[in-house]
Formats: sequence, structure tokens, C-alpha cells
Amino acid sequence: MKHRYLRSVTGDVDSQSLGLILPHEHIFTDLRGPRASDYGQADYHDVVKLIKPYLDAAHKAGVSAIFECTPVGVGRNVTILRNLARETPIKIIAPTGVYKEEYHPDKYLGFDEDELAAVFIKEIVEGVDGTNVCAGFIKLAVSGDGPTDIEARNLKAAVKASMETGAAIAVHTESGAIAFQEINIFEHAQLPLNRFVWVHASIEPDFNYHVKAAEKGIYIEYDTINRSNPIELDIILENTLRMIGEGFAQNLLLSHDAGWYSPGDPGGVSLTYNVRGYSDLVETFIPMLKARGVEAETVDLITHQNPIRAFGLYK
Ligand SMILES: [Zn+2]
Repeated sequence: MKHRYLRSVTGDVDSQSLGLILPHEHIFTDLRGPRASDYGQADYHDVVKLIKPYLDAAHKAGVSAIFECTPVGVGRNVTILRNLARETPIKIIAPTGVYKEEYHPDKYLGFDEDELAAVFIKEIVEGVDGTNVCAGFIKLAVSGDGPTDIEARNLKAAVKASMETGAAIAVHTESGAIAFQEINIFEHAQLPLNRFVWVHASIEPDFNYHVKAAEKGIYIEYDTINRSNPIELDIILENTLRMIGEGFAQNLLLSHDAGWYSPGDPGGVSLTYNVRGYSDLVETFIPMLKARGVEAETVDLITHQNPIRAFGLYK
């Protein structure tokens, strides 16, 4: 049987060597966008100082790999990620792809679909920004009113890159209605829908959307786990139990959307988001699942096997 592997910023990792995987986190993110004068830049030592303690805590909690979900437009910096990855046993996977249209650098507005697909493919197979650090998945974001023309182009380019490389496409999606607009585009382009991860599905209140999307084979990501928000945590708990109960455990992904170093803020600490660690899933949420009768096998399926099946590439 062929082995699946994850393409991390320090090289390919055999999935058999991995344990618990967090499919949606941030380490270094610049929400000021590409027009900020010092966009996406920071002293690497400052990033280590702020973030490494959180990675150490996550490692101690059993986290083996983190998908860093910051694409072009909101500060992706693979050099910083690679240097940080050398200081932790946790594998870090960085994306190709680009954030919402309003965050596009000018050249990304000018690409046609094939040119953009070629950029995505190059970043997955050769490297990003002139380095040999390769991207391991495709991360896009769609605006809150649904895909703009440019964002629809991004989705179609991602399909071409996914078909060529096998990489998964994770899309920041703010509602179930938008998820189905994305599905429509993907179905037209004949993407196998098990390559699509619905990012932020946890914020869609209508559970029917979760089920309908899972029925299509999509990955449903509940990625807003945060123990300091018990109301949200409880909604995610109930929806997770319902999805397991409906037979869709194999479609679920769990993560925190936590982090991150924010260039431009004092000490890298975002005034809006502060900094959050990556351990609530292990320390708080999994114990809640177990207390409600979820078996260790199912927890392993959701937190280990699913991320590998969703994002893994084949040798
Ligand atoms: Zn995120």
C-alpha cells in the first residue's frame, strides 16, 4: 500500500510517525494586509520568544503536527516557519494559496486561472518565495458575501493544482450557504470532494448544512475550539456528538484557529486577538468528548487519521 505523507516546512513526513494533528492553527499572521509598509516581516527571535512556549506546551500535550493556515495576503512567511520548526519536534505544514480578494497583492489580482494554478503547483513541488520550503496544502478564503469573481478564479485554480499534486484545498468559509457555492464550483471543475476542507464550519449555526456537506464527502472543520469561550465550546461539543451519532466521524476535523505572532503589534501580541495556545483540544475538549461516551478509537479517528486522510499526499 502506498504511504501517505505530509509535506512540512522541513521536509516530507511519513504519516505513520505522527500522532495527534491540528489541522487549523496560526503561528505568524499579519492581518494588516500586503499594503502595510513592513508587511509580513519580524525579527525571527521575537517570534520564537513569543510562540515557542505554546509549541512546547502543545508538544507536551501530544500534538505532533500543526497546519499553519496563513496564506498569501495575511503574512505567510515560510522562512520564519522553517526556522521555528527547527526548534520544536512539532511538524509545521505551510500553505500555498491566497486570502480574500481585498487582501490580494496586486500581482495576484492580475493572474489568470492557469497562471495562478501554476503558482500554486510551483509552491507545492519546488518551493515558496525563492526558498526550497514547499507548501503542503492549498488555503483560500472567500469573502463574507460569497465568492467574488477573483475568489471564484482562485477556487478553480486550486482545483487544477489539487488535481496535479494531490494537495487538499482548505477554504475559509463563513456560512453553509457559501460552502455550497464553493461545492458547486468544485463539482463543475470535477474536484473529488474529499479534497475539500470546509474551514470554520463550526460558525454555521444550521447543523443541516454540516450533514449535507458531509454526505458529499467533504471534511467539516470545527476549528474554533477555545476553552475561554464555554458557550462556543458547548455548541462544538454537541455538534461533534451529533456528527458522530449520524455516522460522519470520518468527516470531522478539530482545531483551535489559535496563535499567533502579529507583526506591527507591540511584542507581536495582537490587540484584538491576543495570543492563544494550542492545547485546549487535548486538555479540555477531548476529556469532554470522553465524558460523553466517545471512545478513544473515535477520538483517534478524528484527531489523527482524519487529518492524514484529508491532507496527506501519496509517494
Ligand atoms: Zn484561521
